[in-house]
Amino acid sequence: MDFSFSQEQNMLRETVRKLMDKHAPLEIVSEHDRAGTYPYDLHKAWADAGLMALPFSTELGGLGGSVIDLAIIAEEISYTSADFFMAYAGGIFCGLNIERKGNDAQKQKYLPKLIAGDLRMAISISEADAGSDITAMKTRAVKTASGWRISGDKLWCTGAGVKGTLLNVYLITDPEVNPRKGMSLFLIPNDLPGITLKKLDMLGRKSTGTYEVHFDNVEVSDDAIIGGENSGWDCVLSGLQVERITSAAGNIGASLAVVDLASNYAAERSQFGRTIGSNQAIAHMLADMKTKVAAARALMWQAASKVAAGENALMEISMAKLFSSETYVEVANCGMQIFGAFGYSMEYPMQRHYRDSRSATIAAGSSQMQRNLIAGLMGHKISN
Ligand SMILES: Cc1cc2nc3c(=O)[nH]c(=O)nc-3n(C[C@H](O)[C@H](O)[C@H](O)COP(=O)(O)OP(=O)(O)OC[C@H]3O[C@@H](n4cnc5c(N)ncnc54)[C@H](O)[C@@H]3O)c2cc1C
Repeated sequence: MDFSFSQEQNMLRETVRKLMDKHAPLEIVSEHDRAGTYPYDLHKAWADAGLMALPFSTELGGLGGSVIDLAIIAEEISYTSADFFMAYAGGIFCGLNIERKGNDAQKQKYLPKLIAGDLRMAISISEADAGSDITAMKTRAVKTASGWRISGDKLWCTGAGVKGTLLNVYLITDPEVNPRKGMSLFLIPNDLPGITLKKLDMLGRKSTGTYEVHFDNVEVSDDAIIGGENSGWDCVLSGLQVERITSAAGNIGASLAVVDLASNYAAERSQFGRTIGSNQAIAHMLADMKTKVAAARALMWQAASKVAAGENALMEISMAKLFSSETYVEVANCGMQIFGAFGYSMEYPMQRHYRDSRSATIAAGSSQMQRNLIAGLMGHKISN
């Protein structure tokens, strides 16, 4: 498999790296993490640099980029902060869904604003009793004379409370059938009357934030539905490959940062009159970390190349999501050990990786669900 990048792709990586260095140096990342504030200036800088436009087709004002370009961006943003990467990815994943499933009016209404950085988007599927099992979803939209009325609660929605966010909410529209055939995707501004947003006190990913969304008789019109009534499941599936591969790339970027931080620290920190990296115990830990990240990265690029070539890569993508998320958790844990008490201190960035990494094996399809999927594709019958 050929992993060589084009000159444009190398330039894209360079551009994103420079942009992140300029707009999100470590002290800014820590400030946002500590205060739990959204990086609005950075988001604007992404838009100004064309990063929000990148994956969309040129007819819609985009730059016609590929999944390879998205994975490059994911690696580079996440190298700075996995949390900031979620801020970028939420809008991109939802926007691509609108490009695939929306009608012309919906594309014209939302995509230019998203590309300009004036609109953000958040995906809302999960509920208290519907996590890995999406089909346990209960929150309903009920047909009215003029559109739909929504009541109920959604949980764990990343970025839902950020200013100017369009919620991409999956709701039951036909309770009589299996939710796979009876759910629809609604586009709902997060400031509509009847919506209450509560930022949840989570371990990590504090800047983009994780929210509970309460709907109290929220009224929306028919054109809030995207992809057609009761076609929500199709929308969930249609973006899965690109979303999971980009998420895997995000895990890799953050893991690369952890290895660099730990390696640099081990080369500088001295105890017993020598650097801690000159102890085999630490040096081998670093060697294992580097090897695991390289392996996860190879898996991710292999999967991304297949997706870019239009091939079905469900097995490779699931393996890349599984291995990259577990690698991020593992290297962040080792990074803490190498940093000693400084790693445990809120003054240093390793604790942020330790906290942010922990959600990677839970969100967007847990490790167990990825293993179920992989084993299922291998021909083993797994009961979900
Ligand atoms: C930081 C963060 C951000 C998130 N952002 C969003 C978002 O933006 N939008 C959104 O809709 N949701 C979001 N989620 C929710 C996420 O998608 C769910 O947490 C995930 O689907 C798992 O659901 P759950 O937490 O209810 O766990 P459960 O489904 O209750 O699972 C609990 C444990 O049981 C395991 N398990 C469950 N079923 C099986 C099975 N069949 N076989 C083996 N093991 C199983 C799981 O792997 C897990 O270890 C986010 C979650 C986090 C932590």
